[in-house]
Amino acid sequence: MITFYNHLHAQHQGKVEMFRGALVPCFEVPARADHVLAELQRRQLGTVQQPHAFDDAVLERIHSPRYLRFLASAWEQWVALDPANTDRDILPSVWPTRTFRTDIEPDNLSAKMGLYSCDAGTPFTAGTWVAARAGADCALSAAQRLLQGDRAAFALTRPPGHHAGMDFFGGYCFLNNAALAAQHLRDAGLERVAALDIDYHHGNGTQAIFYDRPDVYFASVHGDPRTEYPFFLGHADETGCGAGVGANLNIPLPRGTGFEVWFAALEHALGAIQRFGAQALVVSLGMDTFVDDPIAGFTLHSADYLRVGQRLAAAGLPTVLVFEGGYAVAEVGVNAVNVLEGFIGA
Ligand SMILES: [Zn+2]
Repeated sequence: MITFYNHLHAQHQGKVEMFRGALVPCFEVPARADHVLAELQRRQLGTVQQPHAFDDAVLERIHSPRYLRFLASAWEQWVALDPANTDRDILPSVWPTRTFRTDIEPDNLSAKMGLYSCDAGTPFTAGTWVAARAGADCALSAAQRLLQGDRAAFALTRPPGHHAGMDFFGGYCFLNNAALAAQHLRDAGLERVAALDIDYHHGNGTQAIFYDRPDVYFASVHGDPRTEYPFFLGHADETGCGAGVGANLNIPLPRGTGFEVWFAALEHALGAIQRFGAQALVVSLGMDTFVDDPIAGFTLHSADYLRVGQRLAAAGLPTVLVFEGGYAVAEVGVNAVNVLEGFIGA
């Protein structure tokens, strides 16, 4: 399996995030991707390449031009406010919640940060745009390999993507890599594509992007949003709207859920994807279902991820795997590569 590695990912390196009333060191750190790359190379599971550069117009298939313009210019605006800001990340602190307007982009940078975000856990840094942009190229390059006949491809990138919406960032995500990959497959002529999200956290961005569409099926197995981030989406009664009714499946599970119950939910999701008639699969591969993850609550163990990979392969679909969450940094490499090894060996 070929891996497209985001060689610019470390340019996104947040200093702090807001967590339980305090600014704490970021959980989403460059070492996460470094560990996966090291483990991939140690086991020699296929070639590792840099991504191809895709045109900005491809991003606009998923994200609004206004949002993309903001991401590309936010750091410059921040430093223009005060040269000392080069040493500080940008964190949003004010949001247009219900009854506020979102159609007018404010001039004030703090207000713009709020308009285009959903939490204060996602710092914007000097290298955020460069890293996120190259990450999108990784996901698109992986999708392109499927179109060229590959059975599977892996996008090894950070920051992750599945919480990013059409026009907002959050949950450590800026560009929705999985949605971009799925859309790329659709634009190349595949009629039905499925996005399967197995990160611990619900893929609210991916769901919302495709919620009214019958051509991209979204299925997610995740921590119950009543207690788990992103809290405000991911319930079982969300089944799609308009032409997309029936093309969205959420399987929320309680904190503490172990592998057997989780795996049965995965089976359920893959069965639904099969019945949908998907011609390709994009997997949001979050590794924060691991028992020792510091910000999640399932109890999967390292060996379980071999079975996850085998089961994903058994779906028999051309598959893009996109690296998402997973914050048990020392173990994330072994766990993610176990999925790949299980997939390849199946
Ligand atoms: Zn997650």
